[in-house]
Amino acid sequence: MIIHFDKDTDQKTLDKIGWELDAFHIKKPDYHVMVTPSALQEVPKEYQSLVVESFVFPNDMQLSSAEYLPEKRRIDIGDISIGGNTRNTMIIGGPCSVESEEQITASAKLMKELGISTLRAGCYKPRTSPYSFQGLGDEGLRLLDKMRGEYGLNIITEVRDSTHVDEVIETTDIVQIGAKAMYDQGILRTCGRSNKPILIKRGFGTTLQEFVQAAEFVLSGGNDNVILCERGIRTFETKTRFTLDLCGVAYLKEYTNLPIIVDPSHAMGYRYGVPDLARAATAMGVDGLLIEVHPDPSVAKSDASQQLDHDAFRQLIGTLRPIADAIGYHIV
Ligand code: PEP
Ligand code: MN
Repeated sequence: MIIHFDKDTDQKTLDKIGWELDAFHIKKPDYHVMVTPSALQEVPKEYQSLVVESFVFPNDMQLSSAEYLPEKRRIDIGDISIGGNTRNTMIIGGPCSVESEEQITASAKLMKELGISTLRAGCYKPRTSPYSFQGLGDEGLRLLDKMRGEYGLNIITEVRDSTHVDEVIETTDIVQIGAKAMYDQGILRTCGRSNKPILIKRGFGTTLQEFVQAAEFVLSGGNDNVILCERGIRTFETKTRFTLDLCGVAYLKEYTNLPIIVDPSHAMGYRYGVPDLARAATAMGVDGLLIEVHPDPSVAKSDASQQLDHDAFRQLIGTLRPIADAIGYHIV
């Protein structure tokens, strides 16, 4: 249950409510928000006089629920916004990993050339094998920061574990929590204490309910800026790397108040399918796309098979604009 208490409710009472109802407290300018387990369906009598408004839910999708906030949350990232009534589809482009200054500079220049707002690249890579390239770590973060300064781009990179979560929050404009890290409650809670936009990728064996509950960890910490990212789930099919769950995207659009980004690159696993999936997702009206692109994919140190080269990316972006236009969205 979500309960809004009068803004003059004293701290001692709020503490007592928090303790008795197992509730998270979030302070807003005009009221106090208490979020209890969804099993609570009625405000206890002794607190009813302090209540401004209350909301009951059938499960623990609460702060993220469209029943709580019928309008999608608006998230400001640098000088662009997604969600709310913006109808913006934000393109996030860039290589899987930062590999060198030369490589990430070429990527930043491409985003700038195409008027794309956000540069991605991993520095701390959550690889499936310890023998694969693990990322440049802090040096990669420094290079991304430099790209932001030189090209005026927003930067997104992923947190792999708790050893660098503070540095990533401090340096980036959007923090990415990857498909493997999305169960890490230390990362989720730390991100909940910040105000940075947090993009959570769906784990490949994660139900929609579990996915949204990961977002609830961040929201209940007081951070309103959560973005969901569908990046493919594991099914019986092995011809493609994963299966892009566009039904899931439709569900999240209908039942949550969180902006949704689609990542066709990790879902497909092969560059040949990425442009078609990107166009399909754009036609659905989504808040963004995350697409891997590398100056020379044949030498990429991670995810080489799925990264577009610069020409293919240019062509793809050209085809997305009229699709977005047709449904009243804008590519940013
Ligand atoms: C990535 O974005 O490069 C990545 C590792 O993604 P995911 O967590 O979806 O596998
Ligand atoms: Mn990747």
